[in-house]
Amino acid sequence: MKIKDLLSSAASVLMPRLCSVCSKPLDSDEKYICRKCMMDMPRTHYEDIEFNAMEQLMAGKVPVERCASYFFYHKNDPYASILHDIKYRNMPTMGRWLTERASREMLSSHFFDGIDAIVPVPLHYTKLASRGYNQSEYLAQGISKTTGVPVVKALKAVREHSTQTHKDAAERLLNIEGTFALSKRHCKDLAGKHLLIVDDVVTTGSTLLACAQALKDGVHNVKISLFTLAAAQLE
Ligand SMILES: [Zn+2]
Repeated sequence: MKIKDLLSSAASVLMPRLCSVCSKPLDSDEKYICRKCMMDMPRTHYEDIEFNAMEQLMAGKVPVERCASYFFYHKNDPYASILHDIKYRNMPTMGRWLTERASREMLSSHFFDGIDAIVPVPLHYTKLASRGYNQSEYLAQGISKTTGVPVVKALKAVREHSTQTHKDAAERLLNIEGTFALSKRHCKDLAGKHLLIVDDVVTTGSTLLACAQALKDGVHNVKISLFTLAAAQLE
């Protein structure tokens, strides 16, 4: 046994790594989420569904080519803890690991075919300073690792918006208007390109819409597709 393996098994006895979903200790060959929870994960399979629920959500607002999301979550179900771990508990690398896996699973659906760049939803710098990282960048990196498509930070958050949690769809859209802007140096490079906007979750779609609108407004002849790690299952 190598020293490194010895140390890691000693560490797992002292401080066992736990599954992000069911909180049971992970086997040495499991990473972040146990095999059972990965198998039981409520996948959306949106990539295989024509005019799926996420595409319906966007219809008539900003033109998008296609939309996909990896799994469904509900605020009270154990799979929501993946999103909390990624966003608030300093585990963005789990997000990168999951989107790498998700995009590998989705390769046969051709969802990523023709995408020229992956654009993470940006975080306002005050939030970035307190959290220390932007989870969407990690999610974008995971897809990039599988597909070889580059990550381009084409958007910036120019205004901090207040929390969206207790707002309805219309209020959310108003609240988020003017939040995102195009990073000027990317305007010309991205003309005519097909961009994939990536975020952690989709609920009402207002954040993704605002990002798509900012790209459509600032880049000539751009095509937009959307991907999120999770999709809220609304009551
Ligand atoms: Zn588990």
